[in-house]
Formats: sequence, C-alpha cells, structure tokens
Amino acid sequence: MTSIPLTKTISIDDYKEESPDKNLIDIINHIHSVKSFDHLLDLANDWKLRDHETDSIKYKGLTTYERLIDLVLLPGNAESRSEYISIIKNQLERNNQQLKSILNTTPGTTINDNIIISTPTPCSKVFLFDIDNCLYSKHLNIHMLMQILIRKYFQYILKLDSYDIAKKLNEKYYKQYGLAIKGLINEHPDLKIDPVEYNSFVDDALPLHEIIKPDLELRETLLKIKQSGKFEKMWLYTNAYKSHALRCIVLLGIADIFDGLTFCDYEMVNDMICKPDPISYWNMTEQVGLRGDTIEERLKECVFIDDSLRNLEMGMHLNMKKCILIDHDVTEPYLIDAREANKKINVIGRFKDLESVLPELF
Ligand SMILES: [Mg+2]
Repeated sequence: MTSIPLTKTISIDDYKEESPDKNLIDIINHIHSVKSFDHLLDLANDWKLRDHETDSIKYKGLTTYERLIDLVLLPGNAESRSEYISIIKNQLERNNQQLKSILNTTPGTTINDNIIISTPTPCSKVFLFDIDNCLYSKHLNIHMLMQILIRKYFQYILKLDSYDIAKKLNEKYYKQYGLAIKGLINEHPDLKIDPVEYNSFVDDALPLHEIIKPDLELRETLLKIKQSGKFEKMWLYTNAYKSHALRCIVLLGIADIFDGLTFCDYEMVNDMICKPDPISYWNMTEQVGLRGDTIEERLKECVFIDDSLRNLEMGMHLNMKKCILIDHDVTEPYLIDAREANKKINVIGRFKDLESVLPELF
C-alpha cells in the first residue's frame, strides 16, 4: 500500500496576512520620527536590507536605500517641493535609460507583441499570474519602497508638512478604497488628481533595476508550464498600471512568456477597477477571451497564483479551478480551507513548489 503524504490544512481565519515588510516600515517610521540615523543598526537587527545587494550600488555617493531614507526625511514644506520633483524626475530618467538599454537584448527582455491586445482569441484554460510580491519575492521589500513614494506623493499633492499625516491618510484610503490613489481622487475632487502622474511618481520612480534581477529558476518553471501544453494562455493579472507590470517582467527576464496582461487602468480616473472587485475579474475574462456566458463558466478551467488571499478567495468564489497563494516565508507547502464548501487554497513558498501542487504540468 502506498502512503499518501498528509498536507497540513489550516482554516482561512488562521492565515495571518501581514504587511510584507512590517518591520521595515516601522523602522522607516522611526527614522522619520527621530529624524536621525543614530541607533538605527541596533534597532534593525533583522533589517534584511543591510545585506541587500543594492547596498553596493551607489549613485551620487548614496545607496538606493540611503537615497530613499533621504527622501523620507525631506521636509514637506514649499521649498522642498521642487527638490522632491527633481529627485523623482531624475530617477524616472535613470529608470527609462536603464530599461531601454536592456530591452530586446535577450528573449526574456523581449515583450510579446500581442501582450496588450484588443481582439482576443477564444480559450478556456488559462494560467493567471499576479506580479508584485508574486513573481518576485516580498523579501525584496519593494512594497516598503512603494509606501515611501506614495506618502511623499501625498505630502506633495496635499501640501502636507507632516510625513506622519501622509502615512495615516495613505493607510486610511488603502483600507477604504483598496488603492491609495482611489482615496486621493475621491476625497480631494478639487485637486483633479491625475492617476497617471501618481503612477509615474510612485511605481515608475522605483529604482527597480537595482533590486529585481533576472530569475532563471522562475523562467525555467514558467517555461515548463507553458511547454506542458495544458494551458492555452499564460496571462498576467495585476492591480498595477501597465508601465510597472512590463518593467517588472523585463527585469525578471520573463517578458516573452506571457500572452497577455490585464492591469488596473489608471487612465480611467473615475473608474479604476481592481482585484478583488468581481467586475475586475469579469473584465479580465473579456480581455483573455474566456469562453462562457457566466463568470463561473469562464473561470472553471483557470488556475490563479497571487500573494493576496483576498484576491484568491474571490477567485475561488467565482469558480476558478485552482487558486494558489505564494508566501515567500513558507518552507513547506500547505492548504487553507476556503470559505466555499469543499474548496482549498494551496499555499507555496516559491514557484518551484508548483511542481508538487500541479505535478501534471512537470
Ligand atoms: Mg501582488
């Protein structure tokens, strides 16, 4: 008799979805509140950034993180606003140049021509991939850098002297609206905030090329899935804007693998729909070309991987075939009992673990 290995199963309420870099955000907040780097290293024993590769890359004598901390410490007063703009513009230019210099230099940096298509071919079996903290690890702390840039934008656009107030508003809007920018637009209609500008000051201004490196193991796993022939399309599904999504997949060296991209459209100022709103899932099925009259019919052969449990729960609720949570702290894959009866969400710690969750693909 062969023994079946038992996989640990936990209840959905027992899964703790912590902010991916809570400690780091606390440290940045501390630096800001005491306005000093003193005692930082004592405080930051588990500050993973200390041995981060980017610490060796300097620009104007400062590492990426030193520059970002400088940015946090930049006062929100009128005189500093032009300095803030010039720091951001400078970073955008450097990001652009770097991206241009690597585009189309290898298969992995060549974006599939059809990735943002208008007339999709009909299909049923699709593998859906979230991008941030999914295709790259949350341990890269990109989420924390985003938070810093969001708060600086809040300070800039709302003319706030206090970083702490910007932080509180950011958290409030994120909770209430799912995206900080949606809160900014809704609560401050008089400012006529442009989400595309916001995106360029936040996501596009991240020094991603100093942080995200080509991931050959990820590429190999994705190619195996593609070559298995079990899916008609490999599809990116993100709440970020397209510029950020495309930059991430080029830097990871996987840009040629995907057939399409569903992103949050920052150009639709009053209609920015994102996961886990069911309308976002419906729009995605339209873009992918999934067959069926109902959303449940359309999603029944789809597999979805994301780092957000909320997004996966909605996927399960809408009848997806398999939903997989990626949490880079996990060492041994396990299962979460979904709220839907008899449904489970797989939890893995890295893409390679997909081989145990979907053995038929490998
Ligand atoms: Mg994500």
